[in-house]
Amino acid sequence: MTATLLSGNRVMQPAAFEREIERAAAAMQSSGVAPGDAVALLLRNDFAFFVASLAARWIGAFATPINWHATPDEIGYILEDSGARLLIAHDDLAAPLADRLAGMTLVCVPTPAEIAAAYRLPPSTAPAGAMAWDAWLPDEASPAPPRGPGGASSLIYTSGTTGKPKGVRRRPFEPGHLAAQAQIAVHGYGLDPAETIRVLMTGPMYHSAPNAYGLVSAELAEKIVLEPRFDAEELLALVQQHRITHMHVVPTMFVRLLKLPEKVRAGYDLSSLRFVVHGAAPCPTQIKRQMIDWWGPVIHEYYGSTETGLVTGHGSSDALARPGTVGRALPGVTLRVIGEDGKHAGTGEAGDIHVRSEAVPDFTYHGHPDEKSALEQAGFVTVGDIGWLDEDGYLFLCDRRRDMIISGGVNIYPAEVEAALLGIGGVRDCAVFGIPDPEFGEAVCAYVEPDEEATLDAAGIQRSLAGSLSRYKIPKVVRFETHLPREDSGKIFKRRLREAYWANEG
Ligand code: ATP
Repeated sequence: MTATLLSGNRVMQPAAFEREIERAAAAMQSSGVAPGDAVALLLRNDFAFFVASLAARWIGAFATPINWHATPDEIGYILEDSGARLLIAHDDLAAPLADRLAGMTLVCVPTPAEIAAAYRLPPSTAPAGAMAWDAWLPDEASPAPPRGPGGASSLIYTSGTTGKPKGVRRRPFEPGHLAAQAQIAVHGYGLDPAETIRVLMTGPMYHSAPNAYGLVSAELAEKIVLEPRFDAEELLALVQQHRITHMHVVPTMFVRLLKLPEKVRAGYDLSSLRFVVHGAAPCPTQIKRQMIDWWGPVIHEYYGSTETGLVTGHGSSDALARPGTVGRALPGVTLRVIGEDGKHAGTGEAGDIHVRSEAVPDFTYHGHPDEKSALEQAGFVTVGDIGWLDEDGYLFLCDRRRDMIISGGVNIYPAEVEAALLGIGGVRDCAVFGIPDPEFGEAVCAYVEPDEEATLDAAGIQRSLAGSLSRYKIPKVVRFETHLPREDSGKIFKRRLREAYWANEG
């Protein structure tokens, strides 16, 4: 079964959706795509995203979505690294790449009017030499190609939060993985096929979690409504209009929703919502509490990564009872925390999080198989997050190992300092990272995005933090920015902030 897709004034009914998947699969074959090949997608959330992803899966190839916020150099890196020979792109996104696509087939999808309007895009046309999506698809009556071997495998890139995006290449999924995945979809995303599911898709599907969420929904949901660009009030209006039951969001969206005036918030009927799941980035506990107060116990969270898939999950009552937890291992997932000495860490003791999941086949980093083996230990893999388990198996994240600051030999987790900063009135957003310090090796540096009306200064911030943090954790350097670089997935691009810091220093 496939869902009805809606975006702006456009509708794609299930039969048309299925037919277009078959035609796109045939077109991919005619363009020379073989099983195991990557098909690059540079598409905003649109019908073509679903069609192309499922068509690639049909012939045993895999869709490789690319973050369209990335620079042409970054996109060029993924195109080359993935080895894709076919790129399917929206007109406006393809235009800046025109001179980088030698030897590739470029298929362009006209940027839909509602997306162009939401992003205030100037009129755009496909670069010369591109094939138009409609012309590329064979005619309506053409037969569906046979299904390729291996079903869905995938090559999807990590967010590149800590370095260059890494291509996570999986072996083909086997029936056991798919059965375990169905369980994870139910418990992690709330997508239970026994219920009527109406999804609002607002996060970018180039990111691994919304991607998986969207593609599972295409199979299980009655309808999927695409919000062309996140807008807090529009989201409420769409939920009311379509009686939306399920959503995947990121914490930044909660922050924006909570900023809507009370009168606006109260004006919408959101009683259809049953399972709103967020993940990918830390969600401040006070934000979560306010969302549960507003929407009721429908707020859920998962923790996971491109490499491991979904790892833990929890609902609203757990969030209230154990503030800060990211939940317990989902079905089919085994979790362990390994301390500095290489042994299992005790309850409450922080260490590296190691994961084994029955839902995801083994992977390698495309083109860099050695990097993967460094992360493996007896069938478990770690993606560099540090955390601890409580006595009931609830996981609490400290931070990423690569972001941890070691000052005077003591570990400091930026996430803890960020949580304290967010508790100061007038701090809208913040990011903390380490900078070299001649005396202590590293020192804490904070970037703060103040509220418009706030009058904050570094000394005041340091004084406020003294009430909640030990002295050595208080940022030595505090910088102010009107807008911190956050990805659509809600992650702060610390890499870019570090570059900005050094550009200023230099
Ligand atoms: P790269 O590996 O290229 O630096 P990335 O790690 O950001 O990018 P993703 O796979 O998109 O790539 O993100 C996974 C990471 O997101 C996790 O390892 C974890 O650090 C963070 N994360 C996921 N879920 C949560 C959550 N619920 N709360 C806090 N952080 C989370």
